[in-house]
Amino acid sequence: MTISLSELEGVLVTDEATLTGCARDYGRVVHRMPSAVLRPAAVRDVVQALRFCCDHGLPVAARGQGHSTAGQAQVAGGLVIDMSTLQGIGPVQDGSVRVQGGATWRQVLSRTVPLGWWPPVVTGYAGLSVGGTLSMGGIGAASFRHGPQVDHVVALQVVTGEGELRTCSPSEHPELFSAVLGGVGQYGVIVEATLALTPVAPRARYHLLGYDDADAFFADLWTLTTRDRVDGLYGQILPGPEGSWSYLLHAVEFFSSTSSDSALLAGLRSAPAARTVMDLDTLAFATVVDEQLEALGLTHLPRVWRDVFLPGSCIETFVADALAELTAEELGPAGFVLVFPIRNAARSHALRLPEEERVALFDICTSGSPEDPDYVPTQLDKARAMYERARALGGTLYPIGSTPLTTEDWRTHYGSSYQALRTAKEHYDPANILTPGAEIS
Ligand SMILES: Cc1cc2nc3c(=O)[nH]c(=O)nc-3n(C[C@H](O)[C@H](O)[C@H](O)COP(=O)(O)OP(=O)(O)OC[C@H]3O[C@@H](n4cnc5c(N)ncnc54)[C@H](O)[C@@H]3O)c2cc1C
Repeated sequence: MTISLSELEGVLVTDEATLTGCARDYGRVVHRMPSAVLRPAAVRDVVQALRFCCDHGLPVAARGQGHSTAGQAQVAGGLVIDMSTLQGIGPVQDGSVRVQGGATWRQVLSRTVPLGWWPPVVTGYAGLSVGGTLSMGGIGAASFRHGPQVDHVVALQVVTGEGELRTCSPSEHPELFSAVLGGVGQYGVIVEATLALTPVAPRARYHLLGYDDADAFFADLWTLTTRDRVDGLYGQILPGPEGSWSYLLHAVEFFSSTSSDSALLAGLRSAPAARTVMDLDTLAFATVVDEQLEALGLTHLPRVWRDVFLPGSCIETFVADALAELTAEELGPAGFVLVFPIRNAARSHALRLPEEERVALFDICTSGSPEDPDYVPTQLDKARAMYERARALGGTLYPIGSTPLTTEDWRTHYGSSYQALRTAKEHYDPANILTPGAEIS
């Protein structure tokens, strides 16, 4: 299939290397070859391309940084829109900033932090695109207090599946706004987001608290969620000796001149000898994970990720059961296990969170060997099994990962929102061309 559009000459790319690059993602498991890649020079290129694709029934997917793991940003025989050419960032005004959908959070922070502002929630890894994480939800260390990133968007500019450029917000086309936030790219391409900002101090005190038992880890995790001075918090679970697991809390406090640890850490169960503290510039703190991941390399390894949101009331038992079945070998050389506590306050978007005020994201991110034929099928089965266990307890899927879902599963996932989202899909993407890789419809 050939895409030819004279209006898009110069921004449509069809060379083998570019197509192959967009036929893979961070998971290195799913490979779907597009027919062309659009590198838009301006929003009007996205408009033109989507009009053409709608008229011709050609499937389309926006690609942020391609960091989802199961083909969500891929499209076989269709058009990939490489959003990394739309990375403009406007001035900070009235406590918000307008950014193009392809900008990374790292770029946003580089602009706003020196001015003393930052988004209420920043993803743990800041090399993700704004459009990509707003299409998924966006969870970070501050989610324990401020929820997901989609709760902090003032307005969006979206190019719909028909190629119409629309501004949407809670008061303008609210149904489009709600559908697009956490909507896995089904209703339009986010070309611009107006992000709420909050003042941030220039320094970050970053605590790492170690544990060798889960009870103390979870007790301190929940205690820290109630301490006003904590600005960021998440947990990590690591392989320990002889098949055991050890636990690490990452807690951060932003400060201006001096900071004392006594109130922040008072009464916690972590042993003082298992505590490390670092003082960093706020911007350096926000990109600590980026540097660690980039130093790790290993980008060629296949990865199957299991990511579920759990009701807070069952997290401890669920994690214990999952760890009892998990081995360090399954995590592989680039695997990790994370727990992000999340405050679940707003529900006016497509992101599905469990029906409790306190929930948590639980990620088992495995990596394997490209030479092991059993790695992917075995881990996909385990991802599916973990999702089913979570769902039975009121959990939901975070669709960044690899868990295979059927159309019926998606219907269950969206529950009472399903019909409104179907209506939005039919209205804003009538030719059903957008983001087939997520396999929602
Ligand atoms: C190393 C690593 C660390 C991560 N850390 C976090 C984390 O801390 N918190 C968290 O929440 N997630 C995290 N993720 C998951 C991440 O949120 C998802 O991968 C998400 O997909 C965003 O990544 P991306 O910008 O590469 O988007 P992509 O993977 O390129 O796209 C994701 C989906 O959004 C769609 N999309 C992309 N851009 C747009 C757009 N402009 N408009 C409409 N749809 C669009 C795509 O078609 C696709 O369906 C991490 C992933 C990796 C690999």
